[in-house]
Amino acid sequence: MKIGVLGAGQLGRMLALAGYPLDLEFVFLDPAADACSASLGTHIREPYLSEAALARFCASCDVATYEFENVPAHTAEVVGASVPLYPPAMALTVGQDRLNEKKLFDSLGIPVPRYMPVAARGALDLAIRNVGLPAVMKTRSLGYDGKGQAVLRKPEDLDSAWQRLGGAQPPHTPCLVEAFVPFERELSCLAVRGRDGEMRFYPVVANVHRDGILRVSIPQDHDPLQSQAEDYARRVAEKLDYVGVMAFEFFVAGGQLYANEIAPRVHNSGHWSIEGAVCSQFENHLRAVAGLPLGSTAARGYSAMVNFIGRAPETAALCAIPGVHVHHYGKSPKPQRKVGHATITADGEAELKSRLAQLVALVESVA
Ligand code: AMP
Repeated sequence: MKIGVLGAGQLGRMLALAGYPLDLEFVFLDPAADACSASLGTHIREPYLSEAALARFCASCDVATYEFENVPAHTAEVVGASVPLYPPAMALTVGQDRLNEKKLFDSLGIPVPRYMPVAARGALDLAIRNVGLPAVMKTRSLGYDGKGQAVLRKPEDLDSAWQRLGGAQPPHTPCLVEAFVPFERELSCLAVRGRDGEMRFYPVVANVHRDGILRVSIPQDHDPLQSQAEDYARRVAEKLDYVGVMAFEFFVAGGQLYANEIAPRVHNSGHWSIEGAVCSQFENHLRAVAGLPLGSTAARGYSAMVNFIGRAPETAALCAIPGVHVHHYGKSPKPQRKVGHATITADGEAELKSRLAQLVALVESVA
């Protein structure tokens, strides 16, 4: 079976690496010259809106999926009309727009930080009166890894944040403002839903971000919020008639979950599952979209994942750490860019802690 993937970044690359043992083949559509999945399948290097490229893409695959959520709506429509597209286009419509996401969470009874849409400078003052300070202003779409965000701490921050995110001149970029959550932890819940509606959940993952970029993910053993996170993820996945892996990011404040956002795709906070779970998020996503039975989401021992941001340590230095599994993405070094990751595995918590400390020290030493 040939899987068509919209996007050919590192997520596409790891999907293909998981898919070949299942006898799956891959075709990628991505305009980037340096797309890092290119060597793992056929790469159609054309714009997402090229009708000729879309026709070629659809003719070359049996089922299609995507590895980033900013696939243009028209692309999803054209692909979905020609081949089965999973997750469904509705998941993209929701995942691309922070306001749509929050409205969906609200409608499903999932707690969210207080928020208000902001389409003009005047509306920002009103939003802050409702939401209070500190607050976080975000563009409704196209933000990632902390881009398209500003923390508002005092009234004087509003003008510059609006100029930067909303734009000095009309047409303004639609934004929203949400309450700053003084979170104790950030958790994500990765769920997979098959074509038949069966759902499985990975252990929730504790995530550490810096400058809005994920640095470290640690799957949690029997977290007290596991079943609550699963319940919220199930509500969203069922509402969207979802197929594939979905990541749901939460803040934990006062011991309660508050929804931040969903990603309708495999996710960085699930990379640990390649070595740390019985069936990885990549394999399970492919099993779901290909209509195969789902694999076990159970953890195998203890594990943690560390991202390489900007540049990666030397492979030899990484390999010297016991229990390490190295993943380079084939990307050139660049500040703030995710160029790879490593997962540490261990038999016990104490061993994991000491190996993780070594890995973090090495990664930080080259950052
Ligand atoms: P996001 O792109 O929404 O996932 O935001 C990136 C990171 O910024 C999050 O993982 C948090 O660490 C931080 N952040 C975003 N929104 C808020 C918020 N409302 N309160 C506190 N921190 C936030």
